[in-house]
Amino acid sequence: MGDMVTSGPEYEAARTIWNGAVSSRPLAVLRCATTADVQAGVRAARERDLALSVRGGGHDWAGRALADGGLTLDLSAMRQVSVDPATGVATVAGGATSADVAAAAQRAGLVAVTGTAGSVGMAGLTLGGGYGPLSGRFGLAADNLLSADVVLADGTLVTADEEHATELLWALRGGGGNFGVVTSMRIRLHAVPAILAGMIMFRFDVLPALAESLLRGPDELTVQSGFITAPTGQPALFAAPTWCGDPEAGATVLQRLTELGEPLTAQLGPTTMPEQLAQIDAMFPAGRHVEIGSRTVTGLDRTVQEVLLDAARATTSPLSAISLHSLHGAAARVPADATAFRNRTPHLMVETIAVWEPGDPDEDQHKAWVRGTDRLPGGYPNLLGPQDTERTAAAFGPNAERLRAVRKRYDPDLVFHAPGRL
Ligand SMILES: Cc1cc2nc3c(=O)[nH]c(=O)nc-3n(C[C@H](O)[C@H](O)[C@H](O)COP(=O)(O)OP(=O)(O)OC[C@H]3O[C@@H](n4cnc5c(N)ncnc54)[C@H](O)[C@@H]3O)c2cc1C
Repeated sequence: MGDMVTSGPEYEAARTIWNGAVSSRPLAVLRCATTADVQAGVRAARERDLALSVRGGGHDWAGRALADGGLTLDLSAMRQVSVDPATGVATVAGGATSADVAAAAQRAGLVAVTGTAGSVGMAGLTLGGGYGPLSGRFGLAADNLLSADVVLADGTLVTADEEHATELLWALRGGGGNFGVVTSMRIRLHAVPAILAGMIMFRFDVLPALAESLLRGPDELTVQSGFITAPTGQPALFAAPTWCGDPEAGATVLQRLTELGEPLTAQLGPTTMPEQLAQIDAMFPAGRHVEIGSRTVTGLDRTVQEVLLDAARATTSPLSAISLHSLHGAAARVPADATAFRNRTPHLMVETIAVWEPGDPDEDQHKAWVRGTDRLPGGYPNLLGPQDTERTAAAFGPNAERLRAVRKRYDPDLVFHAPGRL
């Protein structure tokens, strides 16, 4: 069975995740290298009646990767990704990061539908839904999941695909991941003519003009936007577009975005997905303390703009940010019951991210600031906290009942119980 660590520097490294504020201490961390290790770990936790958790990329801000006082299955050494160029399908190990997948896709001349950051686990992202810069054209990460090998609560291995364990596959597509351990998954990659992307910063007063472009653009354009403190120290509205279609048409579309107002800075041009993901990783390094709030709005009407601007003006830390992820195009055309991820109405997912350095005496203020967007509705289950069970259930809407049925079938004893998930 894998490599079990219970104390010492290796244990400390294994229990350290992206959010430095998480202090949970598992009794043991099992560093898995194979599916058999995962199976042994699940059985061992059951025999000893230990709480069990799964660690992939370690980026869940709420720390659900770590079972305090229990057993954590650490998949971060299981990062193999292989691409079949004939089918454009990638086989991705359960602990691979989005950057691992993007790099393998790039080597094959293809792109993968990831989120915005490279260090986020590909399975954790996919199991929760997965908004990303290519979602307008190719849907969410979950929409590109073709099949998965899953170690179930009794330690058995099952493959969920379009013919076998189909309800499980449905649940894995954005249902939150409390169904078993994904040791390997197959995902669809795509060919694109080019990637044009970058970042434009504006003053806050450009928000009404930007609002028009976020959900109505062509599928090839997905714009992430929000509020950050610019390197100059000035609070700024940002638009981070990604274009994945014809490069000439894209240059015109991106140029138009820079004309929405007078940019403070604009850096746009050809890039690759691995480069783009690495840039976001550099903005959100591991080890800082973080608390995240999430809401979903169908657009930036006047009230929403007011709430966002009030929150942006009230920022308590220059490291904090508000990020708006656009769901439109292909991601919005998937029927609401086709995958567990429910909300297919074009919308903006609002992520209110409080970030501060360890030891910052204003920690309480930073945490309180996250509540500034609480007047907005909804929320993205993957980012909702352990206490947000009602909002999580509401986000799944009528899909919640079906998800509960899948859970009852595959994990009747609730062995996988990352808190706050359905
Ligand atoms: C910097 C940053 C950027 C982000 N950007 C985006 C974005 O653009 N779009 C978006 O949609 N989300 C984004 N997120 C949210 C992210 O998708 C979730 O936090 C996700 O759960 C992280 O997955 P992980 O494997 O890195 O996390 P972990 O903390 O390792 O895992 C979180 C949970 O996911 C489940 N899980 C992970 N791997 C497996 C597996 N192999 N089998 C079974 N269950 C598993 C487990 O329940 C685990 O507790 C971002 C988060 C951060 C910190």
